[in-house]
Amino acid sequence: MGPGPVNADPRVLRAMSAQLVGQYDPSMTAYMNETMELYRGVFRTRNAATLLVDGTSRAGIEAAIVSLVEPGDRVLVPIFGRFGHLLAEIAGRAGADVHTIETEWGEVFAPERIEAAMREVRPKLLAVVHGDTSTTVAQPLDELAAICAEHGALFYTDVTASLGGNEFEMDAWGLDAATAGLQKCLGGPSGSAPISLSPAAVERIESRKSIEAGIRSAGDAVRADPIRSNYFDLGMILDYWGEKRLNHHTEATSMLYGARECARLLLDEGMDQAIDRHRVNGAAMAAGAAAMGLELFGDQAHRMHNVVGVAIPDGVDGERVRGALLEDFAIEIGTSFGPLHGRIWRIGTMGFNARRDAVLTTLAALEQVLRAEGHPVTAGAGVGAARDAYADAAGAGA
Ligand SMILES: *Cc1c(COP(=O)(O)O)cnc(C)c1O
Repeated sequence: MGPGPVNADPRVLRAMSAQLVGQYDPSMTAYMNETMELYRGVFRTRNAATLLVDGTSRAGIEAAIVSLVEPGDRVLVPIFGRFGHLLAEIAGRAGADVHTIETEWGEVFAPERIEAAMREVRPKLLAVVHGDTSTTVAQPLDELAAICAEHGALFYTDVTASLGGNEFEMDAWGLDAATAGLQKCLGGPSGSAPISLSPAAVERIESRKSIEAGIRSAGDAVRADPIRSNYFDLGMILDYWGEKRLNHHTEATSMLYGARECARLLLDEGMDQAIDRHRVNGAAMAAGAAAMGLELFGDQAHRMHNVVGVAIPDGVDGERVRGALLEDFAIEIGTSFGPLHGRIWRIGTMGFNARRDAVLTTLAALEQVLRAEGHPVTAGAGVGAARDAYADAAGAGA
C-alpha cells in the first residue's frame, strides 16, 4: 500500500508468462498495433503516435525530452515535487536552457503563475508533472494548453503516477506529449513506458531527422540538431512501431504482453469506472486516517486519488510504524523524500490495491501499530469512518 510499485494484477502476471514470438511474426505485429489502439483509449487521444518505450517510466520521460528538445532550446519546468526536479535535470542533460519555478511541496501552481513564467521565458517546451507521488498532489493541466499555444510551445506531462486513477484527457486538455509507466494505477510491474505524441510533437521530431541515423558529416547543411540518443530516439522508435516497421531495438516482448493486459484491464472496467474506483478508495483511506486523529498532508483540493499523505504524529517513530506494519501484517506503506523526509507517510490505494478490503485491512493494522506506539486511537475509528465513506459513495452513486 505504498506509492508504487504496488502488487500487480494477477491477470497481468499471467499475460507476461506467455511464450515469446519473433519480432516480425504476424501475431507480434498484431499485438503491437492492438496495444497502440488500447493506449489511445487509456490516454484518451486519437494520436496515431501512441506506443511503448521499453524501460521504466523514466525511459519515457527521457525519450520525450531528448527527442523534443534541441540543445539550446528554452524549457520551462514548474516544480512542485521530486519528479519536477527530475524533468529539469533530464532537460538540462539534453542541453536545454532550463528555467524553473517552484512552489512548496504539497501545493500546486495557479495557472496565472505558469502563464507569467511562460511570458517571461518564452520556452519551446513546457514540461510539467501531473500527479507527483512525492507530494501526493496533482497539478491541474486543463488551462495550460491555451497558454502554450499562445507562445508556440509544446506541452509535455509526466502522468506516470496519475494515469488510470485520476482524470486525464490528452486531447481535450491539448497535450503534445505524455508519458507513463505501469506500476502505479495501471496495475502492472515497472518496465514499460506508454507514451503518446500529438501530430505537432511528431513534426518536431521528424524535423530532426536531418541526416539518416542522426550522423552529421562535415559540410552538410544542418537543418536541425539530430536526437542525441539512439535508444530514446522517438523518430526511430516511431518508425519501428509505425507502418514502416523498421527494426530498431528488440521489443521487450514480455513487457509488451504486460502493458497490453494493463490497458485491457482498465478499458474492460471502463476508464471512468477505474478513476471512480480510485477516487472512492482514496477518499475512504483519507477519511479513515483522519478519523484516527492523523493529519492529512498537502492541498486536499488537489490530492491525487491514489495516494494519501499522512503527517507522522509527534512522538511517533515513523520508521518503526512502517517496520511493524510490514513485519506483523505484510503491509508496506511509503516513506518520503526531500523536505518531507521523516514528516509524512504516503499510503497508496492504486491499481490492484485500490480495493475496499485492502483499505480496511490497512486501516485496521495501522490502528494496532499506532496504539502499540502509544499514540491514542479510538478503537475502530478508522475502519468505521472508511466504511461510512464507502456507504456515502454508494449512496451518491445510486
Ligand atoms: C513513480 C513515478 C515515476 C517512476 O519512474 P520510474 O522510472 O518508473 O521509477 C515517474 N514519475 C512520476 C511522477 C512518478 O510518480
